[in-house]
Amino acid sequence: MFDYKEHPHTRYNQLTGDWILVSPHRTKRPWQGKVETLPPDNRPAYDPKCYLCPGNTRADGSQNPQYTDSFVFTNDFSALLHNTPEGQFSVGGLLEARSEQGVCRVISFSPDHSLTLPEIAEEGIVEVVELWQQEFKALSQDPVIRYIQIFENKGEIMGCSNPHPHGQIWAQGSLPLEIAKETKTQEAYFKERGRSLLLDYMQLEQEQKERIVLENEHFVALVPFWAIWPYETMIISKRHVQTILQFTEAEKRAFADMLKKLTAKYDNLFSVSFPYSAGMHQAPVNDGQHEGWHWHMHFYPPLLRSATVKKFMVGYEMLANPQRDITPEWAAEKLRELSTVHYKEQQ
Ligand SMILES: [Zn+2]
Ligand SMILES: [Zn+2]
Repeated sequence: MFDYKEHPHTRYNQLTGDWILVSPHRTKRPWQGKVETLPPDNRPAYDPKCYLCPGNTRADGSQNPQYTDSFVFTNDFSALLHNTPEGQFSVGGLLEARSEQGVCRVISFSPDHSLTLPEIAEEGIVEVVELWQQEFKALSQDPVIRYIQIFENKGEIMGCSNPHPHGQIWAQGSLPLEIAKETKTQEAYFKERGRSLLLDYMQLEQEQKERIVLENEHFVALVPFWAIWPYETMIISKRHVQTILQFTEAEKRAFADMLKKLTAKYDNLFSVSFPYSAGMHQAPVNDGQHEGWHWHMHFYPPLLRSATVKKFMVGYEMLANPQRDITPEWAAEKLRELSTVHYKEQQ
């Protein structure tokens, strides 16, 4: 009889409409090769060569203020530009291009070069959440903007060259691919049932408990049933809100608490500053009603079984569809067992 915890199977991603191949039987193979650890990173609190540290000069010649909490500025090497002329390119219906307007912002989470998110005091994370809200509000007032992506790309393994704790905000005039997919699925569900897809999903997970990692008064962190990355998680708000702007004071604090604890668990997994790409998914702006949209945040970490061994998305995954060996249930159990106190603060 089919048992999804033992037999190869595919799982459906309710948010994107994509499928993933899960091969639980393969985790019974012994892991080969030695488990590597990394030397402790002893970064200074201030680096004179860092473009994010307070008082330093950036590539465009401007100087950072002596900021004391968080700081945001327009990326000196933006992928999107606001003054892009509008226009289209089309030949024979086969060569299609459209101009894209937008803006890329960089946000420093702390003046302290040596810290990462789980090491910042909760008060400091609340300030970051408030800055995200301010930026979201300001960017959404620009009628050209239709979507605002708030994200963090962390760790050298993710191609992030600067260890200073920081994130990015890209705002643009069209809906990016993942957002277009999630808009379609969430709105179809809402239209059919009059309820939030993610709220129903979260409640089912709360009953099953198997994939829950953390929970507080206003948020749940879980390994999605359809997760691709070994330790992928998603934070879902318990209230059906479309964007971070709707967070109450209490929700803001609970979100900061959740961010601190979840990232501490990640660092504790392999006793290393855990690399990931993480970001919020929110309703489009200046684009009519999006009642079906439910705010959430994805964490996509690449590490598989040590501080240096990562999952590769190659071969079958590049050509067919994503595949994983360790099950989401197993990963959730691992993460659940870990302390929410950062390993550097333990003892
Ligand atoms: Zn720095
Ligand atoms: Zn999403």
